[in-house]
Amino acid sequence: MGATTDLAAGSPARSTDTVVTRFAPSPTGFLHLGGARTALFNLLYARHHGGEFLLRIEDTDRARSTQPAIDAILAGMRWLGLDWDGEPVFQFARADRHAAVAQEMVANGHAYRCYLTQDELAAMRAAAQAAKTPLRIRSPWRDRTDHPADQPYVVRLKAPTEGATTIRDLVQGEVTVQNGELDDLVLLRSDGTPTYMLAVVVDDHDMGVTHVIRGDDHLNNAFRQFPIIRAMGWPEPTYAHIPLIHGADGAKLSKRHGAVGIEAYRDEMGILPEAFDNYLLRLGWGHGDDEIISREQATEWFDLAGVGKSPSRFDIKKLENLNGHYIRMADDERLADLVAGKLDFEHDDTRRAVLTRAMPALKPRAANINEMADGAAFLFHTRPIAMDEAAAALLNADSAPILNAAHAALDAANEWDTETLESAVRRVAEEQGVKLGQVAQPLRAALTGRKTSPGIFDVLVLLGRDESLARLADAAARLNARKDDQ
Ligand code: GLU
Repeated sequence: MGATTDLAAGSPARSTDTVVTRFAPSPTGFLHLGGARTALFNLLYARHHGGEFLLRIEDTDRARSTQPAIDAILAGMRWLGLDWDGEPVFQFARADRHAAVAQEMVANGHAYRCYLTQDELAAMRAAAQAAKTPLRIRSPWRDRTDHPADQPYVVRLKAPTEGATTIRDLVQGEVTVQNGELDDLVLLRSDGTPTYMLAVVVDDHDMGVTHVIRGDDHLNNAFRQFPIIRAMGWPEPTYAHIPLIHGADGAKLSKRHGAVGIEAYRDEMGILPEAFDNYLLRLGWGHGDDEIISREQATEWFDLAGVGKSPSRFDIKKLENLNGHYIRMADDERLADLVAGKLDFEHDDTRRAVLTRAMPALKPRAANINEMADGAAFLFHTRPIAMDEAAAALLNADSAPILNAAHAALDAANEWDTETLESAVRRVAEEQGVKLGQVAQPLRAALTGRKTSPGIFDVLVLLGRDESLARLADAAARLNARKDDQ
């Protein structure tokens, strides 16, 4: 079976005690918050132990797996720097290998051919329903040898019926299930295709996975997968089932809470990847009171003992706080590129240069890239600039003389830097007998068309002398026109 030789298991470079983790998304939807966090925990665990982090695309559900979903998962992981080792493994391509394992299990007596018909199965289901017991199939074919020729069959696991199975989960602790509660699950369907339960176990083995870190919605599956591992005599992986993520209201995360593809955090919410990573890390894992944790620090500190047992809550405010922090730390040119993308002129070098210069003024207030784009937009307005309602209201009979005085004072400024401009504007306020804000507010309205903006002296410097004075003159003309109307 060709695909198995591509896998890392048994590669001479890997020593037997190397930690190997994997992220195994099903490409039936986009990469969401919970999946990204699972990937991050797997990555950090592997890196912390100097091991490997592998990626397996579980595309066995042919009807629901799509190429756009695969692309989105890979792109999302790259965006977050969730860099996997080697090539991704595609599960469906390994179907022959999965089938071969099922046949091997039949040969060694750990699985059997089951010829139950649809009608017989329906009757068993109905009987279980009537008795109000869960359907646990132990087929009469478990011990029969009189196999009919030319009849369709499925291959079922000969699951243990006695005793109990205990998993020592690194997050959930010791969890025990009575074997009598397990069923003889299907390994191969009648068309010869492997089931998901079988494929996961075979792939984890062949990839040499030592630690299975995944959402706790898979804990039940672990008990069904265990007998397959035992039947094959393979090494048992260590499990860590991490609690799911809930919305801020405590309910299971849904679309309403932001359970969207992670690209939405980048494209719609303007989140930086390092902020998102830091946030994911803190969702369910902690290290004392530390909130801001770099990837390097996380790699050094990460362990599964720090993962809590209760579900964590998604909190957009926390994410934005972290994002604001990382924005302030980020390189100006990088931010300018991101903002230029939002403003749809990523290929305009002149405007990008203007943005880069504006970054120190824009960074301190922004919680996301959208706010930065919004805050920067005034730089690119064409005159006479549009005013929003709040700005228009600031340009009134009271502010007209102030604005005129400010225009005159700024026109007379011999330097155009924040210090000179600030003292000029302060002088205007003194002369007019008003507070600084009463000069700054109409100035801001006239220069940006808004009531809020970066600091007014930064605005003046960023716009430059000519553009600033022209916008002020426009505002004065506007006021005069209004006066004429009255
Ligand atoms: N493909 C499964 C999922 O996306 C994960 C299986 C596993 O991690 O074992 O939920």
